[in-house]
Amino acid sequence: ASRPIKRALVSVFHKEGIETLAKAFVEAGTEVVSTGSTAKRLAELGVTVTEVSEVTGFPECLDGRVKTLDPHIHAGILADMTNPDHAAQLEQFGIKPFDLVVVNLYPFADTVRSGANEADTIEKIDIGGPTMVRAAAKNSATVAIITDPADYALVAGRISNGEGFTLEERRWLAGKAFAHTASYDATINEWTAKHWPKPSTVEPTEEENETPVNETVFPATFTRTWDRSHMLRYGENSHQQGALYLDPLNQTGFAHAEQLGGKPMSYNNYVDADAAWRAAWDMAPAIAVAVVKHNNPCGLAIGATAAEAHKKAHACDPMSAYGGVIACNTTVTLEMAESVRPIFTEVIVAPNYEPEALELLRTKKKNLRILKVAEPANPKTQFRQIEGGLLVQQPDLINAPGDNPDAWKLVSGEPADEATLKDLVFAWRAIRCVKSNAILIAHNEATVGIGMGQVNRVDSCHLAVDRANTLADGKDRVTGSVAASDAFFPFADGAEVLMNAGVKAIVQPGGSIRDEEVIEAAKNAGVTMYLTGTRHFLH
Ligand code: 5GP
Repeated sequence: ASRPIKRALVSVFHKEGIETLAKAFVEAGTEVVSTGSTAKRLAELGVTVTEVSEVTGFPECLDGRVKTLDPHIHAGILADMTNPDHAAQLEQFGIKPFDLVVVNLYPFADTVRSGANEADTIEKIDIGGPTMVRAAAKNSATVAIITDPADYALVAGRISNGEGFTLEERRWLAGKAFAHTASYDATINEWTAKHWPKPSTVEPTEEENETPVNETVFPATFTRTWDRSHMLRYGENSHQQGALYLDPLNQTGFAHAEQLGGKPMSYNNYVDADAAWRAAWDMAPAIAVAVVKHNNPCGLAIGATAAEAHKKAHACDPMSAYGGVIACNTTVTLEMAESVRPIFTEVIVAPNYEPEALELLRTKKKNLRILKVAEPANPKTQFRQIEGGLLVQQPDLINAPGDNPDAWKLVSGEPADEATLKDLVFAWRAIRCVKSNAILIAHNEATVGIGMGQVNRVDSCHLAVDRANTLADGKDRVTGSVAASDAFFPFADGAEVLMNAGVKAIVQPGGSIRDEEVIEAAKNAGVTMYLTGTRHFLH
């Protein structure tokens, strides 16, 4: 049952696209009621509008906080005109019903992003708008609610053809409207959680006494929402749909990368490039380049220049680097671009590019996706979906006690000399971006062999050694190198694989019930071993 649109209520913050609506109103002779500046704009476009204040008999007041909050408006929205009793009551009170409500809300998220002060931010919490939206959505039996300017053309068509919307269409629009107000309040809540945390004057609950909760990371109810940015060509595989959603309060971060060239980003490109980006920045302030494939590094290195860092990172595993993602934590120079040029690469990401470097990459590597992103601001909260719920944690940043080498405990061999210690610190930082079980062999602040994603640590050790020694020139890259393990060695066997292959020093968390066996093996091999006391699993 279509319901023609005879009377409409329009109150929109964003006036863009309203011409389309105005034209339809004029042509169809729709009766239009509207708030202050929306009424003014519609009148300019030739629409005969009645001001809300005329309908309510009350002026807009409190700086616009009270405009439409009035029974003359809300009974007109909420009356179910298929119900004779509702119709009779409207008649009795002299209130006319609405068939259409068009509202878009004060831009709360934009206001927060603009860095507005607290008072201005609070003023941009829309009250009358969501009230009208929810009322109209509740009453989809007789009212159509439009909240999305992208739907103006649709509604204009239905006004012009005189048919209005069917019940199914009004219900669909109601669902969109509730999604809009839900996400609106969730965004406000995210802001309050950050700015108005639980004060110390409120007694902690019993549970909080046992484990104090950081509410900015773990709010009582999880209401955070994201806005769909665009559909991706597909998800992880071509039979899966995929999309990118953006955090409404954040306009930096990897998801907001500016693309300067190449094909559109794919789902897997985002996953890999994000991993590479974090790996490269973990090395800051040193200049570093990470090469990532399938969410794991196949090379990571620090260099005196971007080009040097790239050459060192690429040299770790040139075979795997084919079709990889390259992240550089400083400006990509022409020299680095030349070094990247012969290598088939899916994505390159950096905070900036020398103009000649960008020119070269754009013209000589037309398919290469070139991304420019600001330095990462680490998120406070990290999520992973499981069936029926979310796992939420603080991200693993380089701030664990064991990340400071001063806190390391020497348990075997001579204290590392300066160069060896540098490599151990590098390896311990680098291991964070390798999927568990992770073993990383490093030399001269570059990875030379990485074993990752195995279900036992011995296999990862073999893999790391094999990778280090499978270069075309057959060079032994393990002898004289150092190794890091993301978690303790449960037995001596894994460490022995590394030591037999020639590593001179190992850094690992320790904490196994067989630590003594592992340390004994290191002592027998004359290998330096440090325990960090904290691990860096990455699953
Ligand atoms: P206008 O620009 O037409 O003066 O105001 C339109 C905006 O006011 C819309 O974003 C709408 O959601 C909001 N609005 C409408 N009625 C009320 C109200 O009673 N209180 C508040 N705070 N906002 C309202």
